[in-house]
Amino acid sequence: MPSIRVTVWNEYRHEKVHDKVAEVYPDGIHEAIAGFLRNQSFEVRTATLDEPEHGLTDAVLADTDVLIWWGHMAHHDVQDEIVERVRARVLAGMGLIVLHSGHFSKIFTKLMGSTCNLKWREIGEKERIYVIEPGHPITQGLDEHFEIPHTEMYGERFDIPAPDTLVFVSWFEGGELFRSGCCYHRGAGKVFYFRPGHETYPIFYQPEVQQVIINAVHWAAPAGGPTVTFGQRPEPLEAVEPYEA
Ligand code: ZN
Repeated sequence: MPSIRVTVWNEYRHEKVHDKVAEVYPDGIHEAIAGFLRNQSFEVRTATLDEPEHGLTDAVLADTDVLIWWGHMAHHDVQDEIVERVRARVLAGMGLIVLHSGHFSKIFTKLMGSTCNLKWREIGEKERIYVIEPGHPITQGLDEHFEIPHTEMYGERFDIPAPDTLVFVSWFEGGELFRSGCCYHRGAGKVFYFRPGHETYPIFYQPEVQQVIINAVHWAAPAGGPTVTFGQRPEPLEAVEPYEA
């Protein structure tokens, strides 16, 4: 079986202007994620906002099975035509994994059709993530729950359409709850939203978080299946006597 081709996209702005973020992710969040994915049997490349066409040319997207998206402070700098290009690829079958603050990215809100707004607080509290679909491929290798010792809180309501499958729910030390792992189908493509990943905490180095992203790549990769056709079908599959009213 050919290896899954993954493109890790990062806005890559915080790391350049915030010392604290550069300390945690000296080569950028995209390299931290690409690093552990390269230890799997994946073909991994990265792309960032300030590259021509945000690094997401037609050729790159055509060569991508699963796109991972991290963005926060520059969602509006992402050109609409590139967003449309990514959306078209998702509908045609490319998997998309949206991380953390990517909830407000143009591509995610467009695919969801809602504001994707939420509550938040940044005091470094604890998060406990519960697996609520233990049979789901994205939960393989995890315990019933795992904790992130210090993180930003995201709380309900999270203004998303009801997920096709809700895989994780988070509880925060301050009392809020959040739907942290949400699976969707859009056209022929699969979309997974995963909450953890605030830029000032070393969350992408945590084994459970890495395991979820690795599992999600396997889940979101195109699974094959029939090529779908649409539109008028003048010739019926079975013989039908045309009826004249
Ligand atoms: Zn954040």
